[in-house]
Amino acid sequence: MKSITLRAGKERSLQRRHPWVFEGSIAKGGADTGETVRVVAADGSFLGWGAFSPKSQIRVRIWSFDEGQRIDAAFFGQRIAAALALRARLPIASDGVRLIHGEADGLPGLIVDRYADTLVAQFGTAGVERWKKDIVAALLAQTGLARLYERSDASVRGLEGLPESTGWLAGSGATELTIREHAWRLSMDVAEGHKTGYYLDQRDNRKRFADAVRHYGCRTVLNCFSYTGGFSVAALAGGAEEVISVDSSAPALARADAHVQLNGFDASRHRTLDADVNATLRQFLKEGRQFDAIVLDPPKFAPTAAHAERAARAYKDINRLGLMLLKPGGLLFTFSCSGGISPDLFHKIVAGAGLDAGVDGAIVERVGATPDHPQTICFPEGEYLKGLLIVKS
Ligand code: SAH
Repeated sequence: MKSITLRAGKERSLQRRHPWVFEGSIAKGGADTGETVRVVAADGSFLGWGAFSPKSQIRVRIWSFDEGQRIDAAFFGQRIAAALALRARLPIASDGVRLIHGEADGLPGLIVDRYADTLVAQFGTAGVERWKKDIVAALLAQTGLARLYERSDASVRGLEGLPESTGWLAGSGATELTIREHAWRLSMDVAEGHKTGYYLDQRDNRKRFADAVRHYGCRTVLNCFSYTGGFSVAALAGGAEEVISVDSSAPALARADAHVQLNGFDASRHRTLDADVNATLRQFLKEGRQFDAIVLDPPKFAPTAAHAERAARAYKDINRLGLMLLKPGGLLFTFSCSGGISPDLFHKIVAGAGLDAGVDGAIVERVGATPDHPQTICFPEGEYLKGLLIVKS
């Protein structure tokens, strides 16, 4: 077994059970791509078993902090069983579920979503890539499902020096699927859609939005960065009369329209705009348009804390415009899915936006990702999605 020795003082984060070892923390040692290594402190004491990734800044990701743990097929079977057992206990109002959420489930780099009868997996790191066969076998055996589609095409693969890899690893057939989320039905193409096909992390926030639209009696709704219109369907379910979905992806908008129909809503209540959100908000402001509710769910402007400053300006800008476009008493449901922006910083950014807009409001709910995207105590990076539901004064 190969050993990786850390520089003096660099053992602390592992002792706090944080699973990453950065390149700069390593004094000596190396291994092949994805190989299991024993990580030790400068004094030789055991810290953890991990997967070595020679090209990544995150050089080792820890599998286990237990010296007696063997990293073998049975280990992956146990981790998968624990993740599935947690999902079985969580309140999940859908047959679209995140089954494995990387580090939070003790499997760094592995994402597995279930959409009805199909599993979709992303092998994001050298470690899970090396154990792919065993992981796939355990997933199929434990879920009892026969179809697993690989979507290892995220940019993180590049950082690990791994090529893209997509396609069926088990089963075959249509990649177009439909799930039931809360009271509505949604479709996705797991081969073509963003991420593994859909944004399961916003499931409960879409329900909250439907409830809020109904509770506050919102008639006109602007859904910005709508993707396939999940929040738009929610708005219609909440009784909105006019919903506009704005996104820069034409296929996503076509699906948003299809979702309106699939859920039995009158097509005349929904409109799509294939456009840049920032430009659209400015145009609406010029035209003097006003809305009862606005959703802002942009892509990750700050992948890491290093991008936080530029991202903060981008978040502030759309939130300022959003607040100005709301009627008094209107609702802003605003999100950031950037790991590099803390909930505290996000609140400050929105506060700055309100100040610039000359608008105040009451934060009536603070929300995060659905519980099948768990945040664990030892891995604060896992807290990425945060949202504020604001009632404009
Ligand atoms: N709210 C969605 C998920 C949004 S993901 C849901 O509930 O499913 C972010 C979306 O923003 C993507 O669909 C992407 O196509 C879109 N997007 C990214 N940059 C954009 C821009 N500048 N203007 C409009 N849409 C943009």
